[in-house]
Amino acid sequence: MYDYVIVGAGSAGCVLANRLSEDPDVTVLLLEAGPPDAKDNIHVPLGFLKLGKTDVDWDYSTAPEPFCDARRIYLPRGKTLGGSSSINAMVHIRGNRRDYDGWGIPGWGWDDLAPYFDSNLLPAEESRSNNPMSLAFVDAAVEAGHGRSDDFNGDEQDGFGMYRLTQSGGMRASTAVLYVHPVIERPNLTVETYMHAHRVVFENGRAIGVEASRLGEIHRFDAEREVILCGGSYNSPQLLMLSGVGPAEQLTMKEVEVILDQPAVGENLIDHPSVTFVWTTTEECSLLVALEPEALTQFEEQQMGPLTSNLAEAGGFVRVQDDAPAPDIQYHAVPVQIVDEGLSDPTAHGMWISPCLLQPESRGSVTLGSNDPHAKPIIRHNYFAAERDMDTMIKGSRLLLDIVGQPSLAKYCAEPFTVPAGTSDEDLRKHVARNTVTLYHPVGTCAMGSVVDADLRVQGVEGLRVVDASVMPMVPRGNTNAPVVAIAERAADLIRGREPARREQAPAVV
Ligand SMILES: Cc1cc2nc3c(=O)[nH]c(=O)nc-3n(C[C@H](O)[C@H](O)[C@H](O)COP(=O)(O)OP(=O)(O)OC[C@H]3O[C@@H](n4cnc5c(N)ncnc54)[C@H](O)[C@@H]3O)c2cc1C
Repeated sequence: MYDYVIVGAGSAGCVLANRLSEDPDVTVLLLEAGPPDAKDNIHVPLGFLKLGKTDVDWDYSTAPEPFCDARRIYLPRGKTLGGSSSINAMVHIRGNRRDYDGWGIPGWGWDDLAPYFDSNLLPAEESRSNNPMSLAFVDAAVEAGHGRSDDFNGDEQDGFGMYRLTQSGGMRASTAVLYVHPVIERPNLTVETYMHAHRVVFENGRAIGVEASRLGEIHRFDAEREVILCGGSYNSPQLLMLSGVGPAEQLTMKEVEVILDQPAVGENLIDHPSVTFVWTTTEECSLLVALEPEALTQFEEQQMGPLTSNLAEAGGFVRVQDDAPAPDIQYHAVPVQIVDEGLSDPTAHGMWISPCLLQPESRGSVTLGSNDPHAKPIIRHNYFAAERDMDTMIKGSRLLLDIVGQPSLAKYCAEPFTVPAGTSDEDLRKHVARNTVTLYHPVGTCAMGSVVDADLRVQGVEGLRVVDASVMPMVPRGNTNAPVVAIAERAADLIRGREPARREQAPAVV
């Protein structure tokens, strides 16, 4: 018997495991379906290129996307200690004050979360790679008339610059490294890897434990105080549904006993769709240089150079719609040729640059494919179901082509590799439909205000919370790891019954 059973050792779960076990009188169990984070490719930043479709990836795909040429779009998710923070691109963005104030949930506005953005353990280091192509992308944006930004987490989000990274000394700083490894010896903290949770066990409407399996053997873990789901935006709703909390009709069809009819579970799926543009060049300076022996020496001796690259080294935030109150498009510039969603090796030096839609109106869903806990959920993102989303992406794509046409990028974006046939709206629309990928930021499927309350308790049952990206009612303007960590830090205070911090007049990102 444990006080708290946490399911999922990802960005949120690792934070909670650390904070809850700070109290020596409390016992905490952290369950993780994947292996320990032992691979070098997790910790050497550039190595994450090679983690897709390995044993540390859930390897999901969308159902055929109706507005993206009916393609199934690959959706990697971390399946190891650290979860997606062990396989992500390490871009550190807090988001915009409007994002959190816009949720309209008491206790989760910008002034409530700002102290947790300040006090969490995530570093925000400057890049140690600084590829010339990334620097040229920022220069080209300035040549095209945009502002330069030294820090997207500063007073203003708009502008172009180099991203700050969740790295420490040139190594990935996952939540496992920051929050779990240093406290793994605490006698009141137990971490079980390769332990796949099947369902939450209920008694008289109260969550009393978790059933899980390792290597085919079923285990039961009881929770005296609470079960806390931290499985992420695809797996937490799946686990709720497997446990009988979800849309009753759907559960009954899958032969799952209904504990609570809650139609909102799995709905409201929101992500940042991102569109691939690639050019190649004869300049031999892309991240392919990481394969040369000097790169390894530089990394081993100084922890600098291309092996420390997070791929998305540079980027920017812009407003392309006249009525946008804050940035509506974010760019990521990656100084390497990306082929086949990154799953095939580059064949030439080149560059991937992508606009991503920050505030989509389109909504998708996660539903049960089967009552088998090892089966993949059905994920429909419905990217671009809303026409305004397509219109914003077309504008963002045209703005990108303008930047690429500036002198600083001429020698790097020399030959088109994956580009639209022309610049008409129709050409850009076709390109978007054919080349949209995920920017890996799904949220919203167990949202505050519908599935969970403002204390992240699952409404309608006892003893159960969800703490991860799925509780965000809307995706913030930016990458989602730091927001999830801030949410988990605040959740830890709520769970421990401590007065949450609040900062009056926290500096605003506008
Ligand atoms: C490839 C990629 C690149 C990204 N790049 C960036 C970036 O540069 N910057 C940024 O800010 N964000 C980035 N993100 C997004 C960011 O990492 C996520 O938003 C964040 O990690 C989500 O945290 P989470 O706690 O909700 O879920 P996760 O971190 O995904 O954690 C969920 C955990 O639960 C475990 N789990 C799930 N189901 C079960 C089960 N049934 N039993 C036991 N364990 C289970 C999983 O294995 C996993 O460890 C990226 C994500 C990916 C995948």
